[in-house]
Amino acid sequence: MTKNFGQFTAVRDVDLTVGAGEVVCLLGPSGCGKTTILRMIAGLETPSSGEVFFAGRNVTRLTPEQRNVAMVFQFYALYPSLTVEENLTFPLYAEKLSSAERRSRVADASEILQLSDILGRKPSEIAEGEKQRVAVARAIIRDPSCFLFDEPLSRLDVELRESMRAQIKEVLLGLSKPTVIVTHDQLEALTMADRITIMRDGIIEQIGTPHEVFAQPQNVFVASFIGTPQMNLLGVQLMNSNDAETEFLLDGEPLKISMGSKVSDSLFGDVTLGIRPRAFALQDAASPAAITIKSEIIEPMGAETLIHGRTRSDTEIRVVVPREHRIQSGECLHVIPDSGQVQLFNEQGNAVR
Ligand code: ATP
Repeated sequence: MTKNFGQFTAVRDVDLTVGAGEVVCLLGPSGCGKTTILRMIAGLETPSSGEVFFAGRNVTRLTPEQRNVAMVFQFYALYPSLTVEENLTFPLYAEKLSSAERRSRVADASEILQLSDILGRKPSEIAEGEKQRVAVARAIIRDPSCFLFDEPLSRLDVELRESMRAQIKEVLLGLSKPTVIVTHDQLEALTMADRITIMRDGIIEQIGTPHEVFAQPQNVFVASFIGTPQMNLLGVQLMNSNDAETEFLLDGEPLKISMGSKVSDSLFGDVTLGIRPRAFALQDAASPAAITIKSEIIEPMGAETLIHGRTRSDTEIRVVVPREHRIQSGECLHVIPDSGQVQLFNEQGNAVR
């Protein structure tokens, strides 16, 4: 699908398939087109070109009601004057059900989302996390064709978000429907998604499992977007390579890394090395296998410590070490990249290994 708003293209040639029972997260910076895709799937927006199919049926010209999607928004609007039970029952009036069937659906959804004890309360009398669970219950109660979530947890505090992520994931697992979740929050995507779609400026940069987008980012954008602390992306020159060792120049200083096999001669020249902050080991002395940095800012992160350091030529490097290494600010460190975890990107920023 492509979506233009006047001259502006918000979504460009996006091709995405979501399987039954699969959870796909759309992840990317603000304005990259995530919500527009969700709205086109829902029928709230018409694609400028392209089509939407539900189980093989072309639904592009159908209204949201005809598509029977269940959408959960960041601002889950519960009817304030209705009880939780009435809020849950409300969407069922559109379907011609007997009152016994309605009661049984409400009972099932309340049990799955643990709402049975608060069915008689009004929205003003329940907590944020409970409101969120009511919104999800209201979505699953209808037997929709698919679930669409737009930043569903962004209003919750960190602790609640963590438990809701697990709860929603568990509920979705049991329902065997396609689900698309829009989020800014990479942790939400990494924990809830079967596959993550990483977007930038209206296009898909990579689609893959959480492991694939983390361990094999296709380009420097995905590499820098996924993972905290952020991956180090070091501009280096590739000088020489054989099966045992590849030689780079970082700030004019030699850096030798075993890349597993010889790197193609065609890449000699400017490349980018991607090294996650956790993919370094400390060593006692300087050597061509190590990068020497001066530590500047030390951030304790519980069991680990994040060190922001700089090379002599001012290249910033982030390193995470176990808390036991009591590193001081100003200390000189020699850090060796774990060769198995080093990524190589060509001059255009695309992964080459
Ligand atoms: P956020 O994470 O901030 O919600 P998003 O990735 O969901 O962002 P969209 O809401 O899909 O982004 O918007 C994509 C781009 O399209 C933005 O630049 C936005 O300003 C623009 N846009 C969205 N809707 C319209 C509209 N109705 N008219 C004009 N431009 C629009």
